[in-house]
Amino acid sequence: MKNFKRIAAILLVALLAVALVACGAKTNTDAPASADTGKKYVIASDNAFAPFEYLDTASNTYVGIDMDVLAAIAEDQKFEYEVQNVGFDAALNQVQSDQADAVIAGMTITEVRKETFDFSEGYFDAGQILVVPTDSKIQSLEDLRGTNVAVKISTQGADYAQSIADEYGFEITTYEDSPTMYQAVAQGTNAACFEDDPVVRYSIQSQNLDLKVVGDVINAKPYGFAVKRGENAELIAMFNAGLSNIKANGVYDEILAKYGY
Ligand code: GLN
Repeated sequence: MKNFKRIAAILLVALLAVALVACGAKTNTDAPASADTGKKYVIASDNAFAPFEYLDTASNTYVGIDMDVLAAIAEDQKFEYEVQNVGFDAALNQVQSDQADAVIAGMTITEVRKETFDFSEGYFDAGQILVVPTDSKIQSLEDLRGTNVAVKISTQGADYAQSIADEYGFEITTYEDSPTMYQAVAQGTNAACFEDDPVVRYSIQSQNLDLKVVGDVINAKPYGFAVKRGENAELIAMFNAGLSNIKANGVYDEILAKYGY
């Protein structure tokens, strides 16, 4: 019995010592989380959403505003990351299934998405617009009656089309990515599509697509960097701090200028 008491006392002292050291280590940490843990964040993104992310065939790397903003922020905040350009819907799924830490993909900050994602501050404002073939007579939503409209899966354009499809009497076909959706409209498979205004304008110009935009921009809102709700709070904090730094030092404006803004 005496022995048991002694052993218990020794164990208690040892435990206390370990706890003290652990506490000390924690309170003394002021380095960023990534420097502390050596963590390399996995960031999921779209794969064809110029000028935000797209494959530069000359260098065989993904470039664009999102890629450059992320690189500048990571450099400023000193965190390591790798980007997986898997497509928009896949990127959202990867974050929700813990296969990626965050998403940057021209992703609109919405109240519905806030139920499953935490967002950074907005870094670019954009809304959707109606897109039709160059020779189309469609001029407004009323002209969509009886047609089939193309959308890209999981996007705000798709949500918007679904929300007005009954009222304006059109069918919807869902596509996996922006280029396939544009082709479907340019070739006449679909009468129109809804796409983010800056993105489709950039594609029409840079690829000489047989498309034009009609009407006004719908639901203009900020794009944000996002993590799964309740996770990776330190990454959102670093993104926000870095964003404010690169806005203050001119790097953010240089990136936008590089892509024509
Ligand atoms: N901004 C749109 C959205 O968040 C489209 C994003 C995208 O296609 N990459 O739904």
